[in-house]
Amino acid sequence: MIQFADFAQKWSLDAGPLEAVVREHPFRLSGHFERLIHRIGDPVWRQFVPDVRELSDLSGLEDPLAEENLSPVPNLVHRYPNRVLWLVSNRCAVHCRFCTRKRKWRGAAISHCNADGPAQMPGHGSALHFIAGNTAIQDVLLSGGDPLLLPLPELAEILLKLRQIPHVRIVRIGTRVPCAMPELVTPELAALLSRHHPIYVNIHCNHPSELSPEAENACRLLADAGVPLGSQTVLLKEVNDNESILGELFHHLLEIRVRPYYLMQMDLTRGTAHFRTPVSAGLRILRKLRNHISGLAIPHFVIDLPGGHGKTALIPEMVREIKKGQMIVENYLGRPVSYPLLQFEEEELVELLHTRKGLSRKRPAK
Ligand SMILES: *Cc1c(COP(=O)(O)O)cnc(C)c1O
Repeated sequence: MIQFADFAQKWSLDAGPLEAVVREHPFRLSGHFERLIHRIGDPVWRQFVPDVRELSDLSGLEDPLAEENLSPVPNLVHRYPNRVLWLVSNRCAVHCRFCTRKRKWRGAAISHCNADGPAQMPGHGSALHFIAGNTAIQDVLLSGGDPLLLPLPELAEILLKLRQIPHVRIVRIGTRVPCAMPELVTPELAALLSRHHPIYVNIHCNHPSELSPEAENACRLLADAGVPLGSQTVLLKEVNDNESILGELFHHLLEIRVRPYYLMQMDLTRGTAHFRTPVSAGLRILRKLRNHISGLAIPHFVIDLPGGHGKTALIPEMVREIKKGQMIVENYLGRPVSYPLLQFEEEELVELLHTRKGLSRKRPAK
């Protein structure tokens, strides 16, 4: 791992103003991703190099998805009755500056600075106990931190214990490792996963330049082990917010047998406003891509609603109303949830979502 002082020196950065930022939100960048930075401010740089706006932006929420409130036991988020999100690892390959769980970087919760400390989140016993005792849970998503940064024997133990619970039908792993630290995707890891099928792996990948030959190899190893691969991409201002970048990313993913799954609107995490795009941007980009690239390469565009109301696909059927700077969407329980809009986007959004009652507008002439 690269120390911030060394990184700043190498790139002749004025580290002074950024010291307060990294004290609050530590810097973490893998050697592999650093090699993919070609110039200051490029898409890889923007995702991982601290920015003073992380401290000055006070909009947003510490825990935008109310994960702490939805955790019946520590590090297990139970939002939907039949699936749980289990934060098994306290360590990530890189620290994305727009991370939803920045609150967990601080203090004891994440021992990222102590590479020799345990990588497991505390509370494994109680999480397993909760899953075993709740027969409605069919789908367990492992996240963190990054599950693939756990020592293999620890990951093996978790998978083994989960597979002893008959009602757990599917295990999913969310990870940035295949792109950020592809050297950790070994034949041993692939063999371990293949012993516990069905296991789905969702890789987090935001820009075509993250799909290096090494990342392609890592995905090949997993795909050859029979692991279905999907991807999650966060829509990020000045990183990937245009159709040519995302079209290239989604198509390249498909070529390496990764099926684009979610394109996500940035969460309302405090200190990340400089990454947030208007909702209309994602809709516009997908409209331009649809039918121009393979349908298999088109992900769902979703908002993870603030307050823990769940993910909602941004399709006209789910949008009830757009007014006074708010978009009222329906969540999976049929409840209305409001989402704040950027002022200038209301009109365009109404046009993009032209179908639903109260929203109907003539489609703009081409
Ligand atoms: C995203 C998420 C899931 C999985 O949702 P899918 O739409 O099935 O991928 C489950 N639990 C929580 C808490 C989540 O945030």
